[in-house]
Amino acid sequence: MEAKFSANAKDVMSKRGLKEADIADVVNTAEASNRKLFKDGVNLAKKRIGEVTMYAVYDNNGEVQTAYSHRMVLGEPVKTTDEPDLSDWTCKHCNERAVIGSANMSYLGVTRTGPAIVCPKCSDVWIEEYLATMTIAAAEGLFEKKKA
Ligand SMILES: [Zn+2]
Repeated sequence: MEAKFSANAKDVMSKRGLKEADIADVVNTAEASNRKLFKDGVNLAKKRIGEVTMYAVYDNNGEVQTAYSHRMVLGEPVKTTDEPDLSDWTCKHCNERAVIGSANMSYLGVTRTGPAIVCPKCSDVWIEEYLATMTIAAAEGLFEKKKA
C-alpha cells in the first residue's frame, strides 16, 4: 500500500513538524506487520522513529487523514481491577476489541500512568490524537522545563 496524504494531513503534518517519508514508513510497517488498530474503514498505526513515536490515521486506500507524535516512551499496560470500557478500535493482529485502559509512560527518567488504548490480548498500547497533542504534549513540556 502506498501512503498518500490528504490536504488536511499535509497541513497538520507541516504544523507538527512531521515528514511525509516518516509517516509513510509508519503506514508501510503497519501494513507489512499487520500491527494496527482499525474501525469503520480507518486505520491507526504507530512506529517509534528515533526519539519519537509517530502515528498515522489512514483509510483503506492508504490515504493519511492525520498524523501526530509524542516523545515519551510507552511502556506496559497497567492492569486495573475494574472491567475496562471498550474502545471503538479493534486490534488487527488479534482481531480483538481494544479497551480504554492505562499504560506506563516514561519521559526524561520519570514514569507515570496515563490513559491509553490497549489490546487485551497482545498488550500493545496506542495513544489517541487528542491525548498526544494536548495532554501529553503539555506534560512533556513541563518535564523539559524542570530539566532545563
Ligand atoms: Zn492485539
